[in-house]
Amino acid sequence: MEIHAPQSEPSEAQRAVTMKFTYPSGSKPLEGYTIKRGVGRGGFGEVYFGTSDAGKEVALKLIRRNLDVELRGVRQCLNLKHPNLVALYDIKSDEVDDRWVVMEYVSGESLEDAIDRNPNGMPVPEALQWIHGICAGVAYLHDHGIVHRDLKPGNIFCDEGVVKVGDYGLAKFISCSRRSGQTESVGTVHYMAPEIANGRYGREIDTYALGIILYETLTGKVPFEGESVGEVLMKHLTAEPDLSELEEPYRTIVQKALAKDPDCRLDSVAELAAMLPPAPDGAGYVCRSTPPMAAHDRPGSASPNGAGPARHGGDLPPKVEVAEVVDAEEPILAGIRNGWNYLEQSWREADMHPTLRIFLIVVAVIALVFTAQFWITGLFVAFIVYGIYWLFRAIVVKPKKVRYRVRTQKPVVEQNVTPAAKLATIEQGPPVKAAEPAPIAPAARRQRRHHAQNLRQHLADLVAKKPFRIRFMELVGSMLVSGLVAMTMSLVLLVLTSGGQFTPGPVIWFSVVGMLGAWAIIIPSKFAEGKVEDQASMRFIMLIMGLLVGGAAAGLYNVMAVQLPMEGELTQYPPFFGQTIASPSKIPLVAFVGYFGFLYVILRWWIQASWIRNARLSLWTVGCCVFWAWLLHLFWWFPQPAGMMIAAVIAVTVQFSSPWLPMSQRRREL
Ligand code: ATP
Ligand code: MG
Repeated sequence: MEIHAPQSEPSEAQRAVTMKFTYPSGSKPLEGYTIKRGVGRGGFGEVYFGTSDAGKEVALKLIRRNLDVELRGVRQCLNLKHPNLVALYDIKSDEVDDRWVVMEYVSGESLEDAIDRNPNGMPVPEALQWIHGICAGVAYLHDHGIVHRDLKPGNIFCDEGVVKVGDYGLAKFISCSRRSGQTESVGTVHYMAPEIANGRYGREIDTYALGIILYETLTGKVPFEGESVGEVLMKHLTAEPDLSELEEPYRTIVQKALAKDPDCRLDSVAELAAMLPPAPDGAGYVCRSTPPMAAHDRPGSASPNGAGPARHGGDLPPKVEVAEVVDAEEPILAGIRNGWNYLEQSWREADMHPTLRIFLIVVAVIALVFTAQFWITGLFVAFIVYGIYWLFRAIVVKPKKVRYRVRTQKPVVEQNVTPAAKLATIEQGPPVKAAEPAPIAPAARRQRRHHAQNLRQHLADLVAKKPFRIRFMELVGSMLVSGLVAMTMSLVLLVLTSGGQFTPGPVIWFSVVGMLGAWAIIIPSKFAEGKVEDQASMRFIMLIMGLLVGGAAAGLYNVMAVQLPMEGELTQYPPFFGQTIASPSKIPLVAFVGYFGFLYVILRWWIQASWIRNARLSLWTVGCCVFWAWLLHLFWWFPQPAGMMIAAVIAVTVQFSSPWLPMSQRRREL
């Protein structure tokens, strides 16, 4: 692929004049808007200046139909509001089903133009205005769970003297189209973090791009240049940038922002902004990091993320300090609380007919009443064991947790402090006390929810994009591991329940049925991963699998003539389909098939095999499976505790042997 050095290219404005656009001035391809003129063309579409029927000036970005457009990312961004972001107004379709992104029209120059005006680097104060503005906008995006992915000077503008970051949210499909459409331009690869080669798109890629932009604003050139896209990419992967032209602190900042390993890079753009000197105050700058009268521009106010604008006005960089050391939360209680919240939320959100709800409540109440003596005893024992554990933990282990806070520092203006005021300050002691954690404002809560939704969506995207080869390898690995886990779990359970007196028969039965039962969940879950979202079809598959596992369990039971763990006298059990079961070795096939069928169809087992489930091994989920197995035997006879034990073996085996994306890695994905 050919490269064109940015300097040798005609400017965007020049290009727009000579470029041919699909729609002429005055045309109305999109209802409600009139095209005034074409502005430019990017990697995947055309940008027009237009007006709405009411007269609002807008930029209209046409996204070509032939690209596999993924507009979810843009939708997430429609309600974002920040002075340093180009506002996105809407996404619309025209009559020929082309998509248009309607956004704020930016009249000023782009950072690319500003760099072109300063081929040897911008004056530092001007560069700081740009970088702080970008940092504030991008940090806001990150706070909302969005990675820009396409930060480059051509996507950063100056509007009415304020820095604005554009094209956020679009990047997800821009980069996809680039990768598939061979429309790669060197202007884009200059800002690409090395880990993109491995398909890793966490927010660190924005920090890397910002490091490159900082370098470019100060020196007039990008750190890695080359004759081809491949050469530039190779330099991102292996070469060290030449930092000799930079002074401190810029040298250290660029070096840390361009670390090859994303885990060693500056933690966030907010951190990058915090390391920079503040953007100088005062008029006279072509472009400023904040609007002159913006609320957060006033000294003492903080931006939502602690990035640049908060310090605009001469504050010192924010300082991270220990706020307080508190007792760490007790994990079992926290787990029970989380489990309960999860259950409550699932119950509230379940798409269930009211009659079914009432039926389930009645069944649960009856079950609780009839089994009161068991669970009250169980609870009592659990309470005592927990009490001992709690005391041991609180008195002997005493785990602690450190909470940090970020403090904005004010420069001390000595001449404004009268001796009397100074004395009063000393007498009152230090003004800053360890702050109580502030109550979560509704906006912050909304923001967190937003963030969680974005994370979920992003993870779902990741799962959907997993290549077949990886899926297949994971499946083979899980199937192999599950044999071992099922055997270990069966052994442990049988030792615990039989007091060490057990024969090899049940161990083999539990291990084999546990392994087959886990396969019956892992295999369909792996194939449906990221594709089948419809619960009904998954339940149907699970039902079939349950019936098959039941058949296999019955077959093995008959072949081995195994004695399954069964409590109480056989005669105490209700007649089964008209016949009383004569002996533990005469359990009919229908008992197995029905039991496993019900066990599989009611629970959403496939979630336990999900790559992005909440925990590697959730004891709460295992408990739910066991509880359901127990509840099941009230209306479909099956020897107990064997039924509950096999449910536990299957649940643990599925969770242990299915791959899981650790939480730390998930956070890095954003
Ligand atoms: P990329 O596809 O990576 O974003 P690009 O930025 O070169 O590449 P476009 O985003 O399609 O391409 O933009 C094309 C032209 O339109 C550029 O000259 C850009 O300056 C201009 N432009 C984009 N968005 C706006 C806007 N909101 N207001 C004014 N001009 C814009
Ligand atoms: Mg662009």
